Amino acid sequence: MFKHFPTPCAIVDIETTGGNVTYDRITEIGIIEVTEEGVKEWSTLINPRAHIPEGIQLLTGITNEMVMAAPYFEQVAKEILLRLQGKLFVAHNVRFDYGFIRNEFARLAYSFKSKLMCTVRLSRFLYADRDGHSLEKIIARHQIYVTHRHRALDDAKATYKFMTIAEEEKGEELIKAAIQHQYRKESMPANFDAHLIDALPNSPGVYYFWGENKELLYIGKSINIRKRVLSHFTADHKSSREMKICQQTRNITFDKTTGELSALILESRKVKELQPIYNRKLRRVSTFYSIQLEEAADGILKPKICAISEMPLTKQKLYGLFASEKKAKQAIQSICGENNLCYHVCGLEKHTGRACSGYQLKKCKGYCVGKQLAIQHNVKLLESLGTLALKTWPYKSPVSIIEEDASGQQRHLIVDNWCVLGIADFPHEISEVLNQKSHPQIDRDTYRYLVNTIFSKDPDVVIRPVFTTSNEDPHLIP
Ligand SMILES: [Zn+2]
Repeated sequence: MFKHFPTPCAIVDIETTGGNVTYDRITEIGIIEVTEEGVKEWSTLINPRAHIPEGIQLLTGITNEMVMAAPYFEQVAKEILLRLQGKLFVAHNVRFDYGFIRNEFARLAYSFKSKLMCTVRLSRFLYADRDGHSLEKIIARHQIYVTHRHRALDDAKATYKFMTIAEEEKGEELIKAAIQHQYRKESMPANFDAHLIDALPNSPGVYYFWGENKELLYIGKSINIRKRVLSHFTADHKSSREMKICQQTRNITFDKTTGELSALILESRKVKELQPIYNRKLRRVSTFYSIQLEEAADGILKPKICAISEMPLTKQKLYGLFASEKKAKQAIQSICGENNLCYHVCGLEKHTGRACSGYQLKKCKGYCVGKQLAIQHNVKLLESLGTLALKTWPYKSPVSIIEEDASGQQRHLIVDNWCVLGIADFPHEISEVLNQKSHPQIDRDTYRYLVNTIFSKDPDVVIRPVFTTSNEDPHLIP
């Protein structure tokens, strides 16, 4: 039992096939639950569905033979969840164990979350004058008896023992301070002024992360700037990229907007203009590629890659928006392979008059050798492209999407064919926007946002055709 550490908590240790949280898998898990009722120990080997390298077998003593007969993670997932749920998750270098366990749950489409405490950091705070805070060093320093190092339950027991020793040696006040220190450091990077977050508004807009030398690190958008920025700093960093952004940030600035769509437009404009270090390159792409179908003389539909940069989406049925020609081609390749389509028709091979190599591999159903009708191939192709189909613009005219901020300020975002033509702060400015000569560009984020907004039937979203001033519904094309 603990005197000063918070309960209920679960002290966790895992063994794995390696150190990569994405690719490597858990081979053993040990959990010590500390609750009002007492201390419970539990552990199990886990079949990782992967080979354990020689070096790790030697280190842990867990062999491939041992895990062969062990349950898969999904078979013990419920048991693990029951032991961890609602408890403080404690581990030595907690990001490691927590990261692996979260990923195992994620493979089962479950999002596991817990409050965390790290005993490496506890040791660093409480025994700052000592050299080294690995479990190895701690065990030696505090003369903790361990039966079998690098087995999950034994390491968890050593961690638990260290905590009880620290309580005895350091007392309530220091333990409380160590815990507090950990939570403060957890959420905010060093050298970062927490007041910056207090200054952020709870309103829609765009925010900017700046680094040490006033370089622009990242631009983001949200319907709630403050909440979104906070989540950057408190969330478990999914990628090393996000971790880096947070660690380097020294200043945050923002621009308020009236709503989500205008935040999106401003964000995409600013990213293109200012090119922040960490915004993905993808966003700067101004030309996208899509797939369209061409009908040949014999009635067969052939997928063709086309470049689109402006207002194209009503003219022809299109499938997918890809950032490069290569990505579009890869999509065709995988659709072709997965749906037994003909390599010749899909343009993966030159038409030679003979069977395509897919037919030889028993993938193609034989359109190329006259064993399949054009109509049969067409049906299969359309079916497999189905989920990629871009929505057809559902209005006869451009529309105005009206955003209103908390103070009642309205803004008209003029949209046509999934492209934003411009912004009007007053109704009489709408015609100016419509008369502009510039060609609006297609933008993948805007397209996605508009599809969600227009088809959501959300009563708060006001959409009006811009050629009338009445409040009637826009002219939906049936
Ligand atoms: Zn073929």
